[in-house]
Amino acid sequence: MLILVLNCGSSSVKYKLYNMENETVLLSGLAERIGLSGARLVQKAAGQEKVTWEMRLADHRTAVEAILRRMGDAGLGVRGEDIAAVGHRVVHGGEAFAASTVVDDAVLQKLEELSQLAPLHNPPNVTGIKICRQLLPHALQVAVFDTAFHQTMPPKAYMYALPYEYYRKYGLRKYGFHGTSHRYVAQRAAQMLGRPLDELKLITCHLGNGSSLCAVKEGRAVDTTMGFTPLSGLVMGTRCGDIDPAVVALLIEKEGLTPGRVSDLLNKQSGVLGVSGLSSDFRDLEQAATAGNRQAQLALDMFVYSVQKWVGAFAAAMGGVDAIVFTAGIGENSPYVRRQVLDGLTWLGLRLDERANCTRGRDAWLTTPDSEVQALVVPTDEELVIARDAAGLLAEHTLMENISITA
Ligand code: AMP
Repeated sequence: MLILVLNCGSSSVKYKLYNMENETVLLSGLAERIGLSGARLVQKAAGQEKVTWEMRLADHRTAVEAILRRMGDAGLGVRGEDIAAVGHRVVHGGEAFAASTVVDDAVLQKLEELSQLAPLHNPPNVTGIKICRQLLPHALQVAVFDTAFHQTMPPKAYMYALPYEYYRKYGLRKYGFHGTSHRYVAQRAAQMLGRPLDELKLITCHLGNGSSLCAVKEGRAVDTTMGFTPLSGLVMGTRCGDIDPAVVALLIEKEGLTPGRVSDLLNKQSGVLGVSGLSSDFRDLEQAATAGNRQAQLALDMFVYSVQKWVGAFAAAMGGVDAIVFTAGIGENSPYVRRQVLDGLTWLGLRLDERANCTRGRDAWLTTPDSEVQALVVPTDEELVIARDAAGLLAEHTLMENISITA
């Protein structure tokens, strides 16, 4: 069974085609600079070299058409009609979606309404779904949400202490993001620990360009660091994380910035990039800090400190923690960041195995046998979760159809 996973951004479409018989990736690719000059499609088929096509991609529809055509040309015998389902990454599911869902007209309308909560991200996601409904009408369209996993948070964790009417009026509350990743690594961590997920207290640390932590108690998210948008919580690559909200008013007043410019500053020019004045990439920062760059060192220290503080907060929120799980670009690949974070957590009874920590990009157990709290690395795989959810919903859908035919 073939499942296509699609991630439509404002000017790009990322895709992966899975054979779900053995969960292998047959093809992956990226159409970028859609609607801009210098557009191109890059595709890698299993066992083949990467191929790049420079082409005009006027809009998302042209891009998806080009993707389907190139998939067919890859020599793997893939035809559009063989794609049984398309799993779409959708950033915001609001309070309406606590799990992945099959997209019908009613769901599509709800997704359009939710665009007000994520005006930059949801519209291209919805566009991708509409295009696939037209181009692959036989395939089941499934939406998988970044926010869904966090919908189990209790009100005391997700409400903001603002006048209640703003929650009613604008849905102003914490939603959390990276949910697909947190769900996947929590499940995988439970497998590695050899214990049922519903008996564990985990803190999953998705540390990448965007970073968030999630407190997963007995398999359910009970708190997370990102909020109404992916701007809050940890210090990130270019995002400020938590700051005093009064800073926004001051920037508008003293710097004469418009709200849009402030948003830009907090999202794109802050975080470790803003503090270091150098880069948002941790490889650059680690190198610069080693060479004596103090601002780079400060940026790294602030990032590490913010992770440590939230680990402490979430251990308190769950009444303890069994394991801390690292994932995403930094979490999977930076022994330096992991060591710095974990060295500050010995008070939890956590003992780091320095040698085990010298690993990159694969499952690893980082703590010594006598450690009371475990630390793991689990490479995330959001696309695989989307493909699995799509396959699961397809199986349910087919079963229901068969039952209604028999009845
Ligand atoms: P992601 O958003 O998950 O793709 O993570 C991207 C980030 O991971 C990059 O911006 C880097 O900061 C970080 N990263 C990737 N590889 C390494 C590495 N070997 N050491 C430190 N940081 C890394």
